[in-house]
Amino acid sequence: MSDATLTLNNAVELPPIGLGVFQTPPDATTSAVEEALRIGYRHVDTAAAYGNEREVGEGIRRSGVAREEVFVETKLWISDYGYDAALHAFDKSAGKLGVEQIDLLLLHQPLTSRFDLTLDAYRALETLLSDGRVRAIGVSNFMPEVLTRLLDETSVVPAVNQVELHPYFQQKELQALHAQHGILTQAWSPIGGITSYGGGEKSTFDDPTLVEIAREHGKSPAQVMLRWHLQEGRSAIPKSVKAVRIAENFGVFDFELSPEQLAAIDGLDTGVRGGPDPDSITLENYGMPIPEA
Ligand code: NDP
Repeated sequence: MSDATLTLNNAVELPPIGLGVFQTPPDATTSAVEEALRIGYRHVDTAAAYGNEREVGEGIRRSGVAREEVFVETKLWISDYGYDAALHAFDKSAGKLGVEQIDLLLLHQPLTSRFDLTLDAYRALETLLSDGRVRAIGVSNFMPEVLTRLLDETSVVPAVNQVELHPYFQQKELQALHAQHGILTQAWSPIGGITSYGGGEKSTFDDPTLVEIAREHGKSPAQVMLRWHLQEGRSAIPKSVKAVRIAENFGVFDFELSPEQLAAIDGLDTGVRGGPDPDSITLENYGMPIPEA
């Protein structure tokens, strides 16, 4: 089952589990990507703002896995919004990754304080899509109201919205909106890393319900959370720099959660996000420039 794929709204296929590399230092990125591809991952999620696109590309090349077998996903940062800037940002990301074509390109944040620039950046993604430079386009951290505005004012329905989503923050209203429009929900912090490194009071890794379900299957809480995403039809992009955890997070295709277990995990939602409110991300506080390739 590890080769199971999700089909995006433009028929492009996406391996549901990808390796995330947020906070993976550049000098640890190449080996993490190489290790993931060696184990069987065929999908990597990075971003211009993570500062490690070059090393992601290097890891893919060193792995020996053919470029066309790896689904490469990256995100444009807010300082590159606007039509021409976003087109140029594609060149920067593709140049660092060392690829001609990017499989999935997202707008990293909605930049609600300058939504005009966001819309123009999205129109640049539409151009890149029609030119064949990217195979699919999407967004990240778009909440229902902002997503609806984007849908109203642009032509191509995003293939993906990548948002914070783990047992403690499930965004069910947003997921319903995605389902209505054929947008794939992709979970960031899918195993609740943000509930642990984010300094919250309660970490998903120690949650008694998840620990108990994990015990029943002889699996870890992280594996149970990833299985929950898969069975509910989401893509998930767990991050680790440790080979043993990279492997653990891919060992999720050989067991099945029962309807009762899925419902128990659905019941853990607190409605409280661990990451920043997307509206709080502005050019003034987060608008660092992205270097040239
Ligand atoms: P995750 O839910 O993937 O958790 C990662 C954290 O958990 C790390 O501290 C990691 O440490 C640890 N970890 C990994 N595997 C295990 C395991 N099996 N058991 C216990 N601990 C584990 O959180 P992230 O926030 O990193 O999200 C994943 C990815 O989502 C990012 O890497 C990035 O690609 C994307 N993302 C996107 C955002 C956006 O705004 N669009 C925002 C945040 C993330 P260690 O590395 O030491 O193993």
